[in-house]
Amino acid sequence: MDIVELVKADLEARANVGAAKYGARLTTDEPCHNGISALQNAYEEALDLACYLKMSLTEEHIKVYGGNQPCGIHGSDHPDYLCPTTRANGRT
Ligand SMILES: [Zn+2]
Repeated sequence: MDIVELVKADLEARANVGAAKYGARLTTDEPCHNGISALQNAYEEALDLACYLKMSLTEEHIKVYGGNQPCGIHGSDHPDYLCPTTRANGRT
């Protein structure tokens, strides 16, 4: 599966959703339709992205290792200081 082709198709589909919702595709000719700068929108989307990534990593970690495994036994999946289970259990 060509990932770039999948992403390209997703980009086009998202552009169509935006066009249907706002009546136009995102261009440099107009400001963002919510009135917020593109940079601020991107920053806020990055915050959301970090939350979704952490949620998925934590869910995967719990599925593979359980919810109460102490960090340090997970091999090379992640460094100890980023262990989702350690964080969720209040250990550092
Ligand atoms: Zn861990």
